[in-house]
Amino acid sequence: MKKKKNIGIVAHDNRKKDIMEWVAFNWKELRQHDLICTGTTGKLVEDALKEKCEEHGEVPPTVTRLKSGPLGGDQQLGAMICEGKVDILIFFWDPMQPQPHDVDVKALLRITVLYNIPTASNRSTADFMVTSELFHEEYEPILKDYRSYITRDVDME
Ligand code: PGA
Repeated sequence: MKKKKNIGIVAHDNRKKDIMEWVAFNWKELRQHDLICTGTTGKLVEDALKEKCEEHGEVPPTVTRLKSGPLGGDQQLGAMICEGKVDILIFFWDPMQPQPHDVDVKALLRITVLYNIPTASNRSTADFMVTSELFHEEYEPILKDYRSYITRDVDME
């Protein structure tokens, strides 16, 4: 991944306040990257960064808004990870409430592990991430070699 990263940001409704506080606090770091969010989270992130950047005479970062999570946004993010279009994921999911799209949440989290994507599920991990030197450096995540899986013999009997 390049110095300028594609950062996925998602928050469930009960975690949106948390993500907004985190985004507002880290606006200077975040404005150096491209952000890709699920729909509702994206609107909040876009507005918060616009306000902060305008206050300081800076240009706000690009915020791409996908569909809302329950309407397929998590799946879109997962697909983008498979295609190498998302480098980091900040995903504040709700540990207290079942979601209508629980299977999509699980799928997204699975794909982040499969592709070795740095993932923060809470504020302290997100704080460690944003203050890491690597946040602004080039970095090549090591991927497992799945060639033997792809070329496996499939029993057709
Ligand atoms: P939202 O989706 O940003 O559209 O609220 C988040 C989610 O539930 O995955």
